[in-house]
Amino acid sequence: MEKTLFEKIMTGEIPGQIEYEDDLCIALRDINPQAPIHLLIIPRKPIPRVGEASKEDQATLGHLLLTAGQIAKNLNLENGFRIVINNGEDGGETVPHLHVHLLGGRQLDWPPG
Ligand code: AMP
Repeated sequence: MEKTLFEKIMTGEIPGQIEYEDDLCIALRDINPQAPIHLLIIPRKPIPRVGEASKEDQATLGHLLLTAGQIAKNLNLENGFRIVINNGEDGGETVPHLHVHLLGGRQLDWPPG
């Protein structure tokens, strides 16, 4: 299977600003930031999207959220932040490798577009 864009960034084939990494995931700076802080928390395993995750991915999915929360704490986002997972075409997904958006550093609007 061809590597996803994010796998190519993980292996260094494509450049990217990786701000954090561990054995299960990386945190990548979004190339088109929608807020002063916009990171993508991406599992090393190329799960396409949350709707295709399986029971065996449970620990990985939990790890992504815990990592996002820890990074938000490290970045002093105590005033608030947002976590977003886009799923499929109607959800606005453009990269078919699961990722959690971590957005912060400004007042975020609701509802999203
Ligand atoms: P989504 O639309 O939820 O699938 O999110 C994909 C995100 O990946 C978008 O916010 C893009 O700006 C971001 N993105 C696309 N290509 C790159 C790249 N080469 N490096 C970092 N972020 C990227």
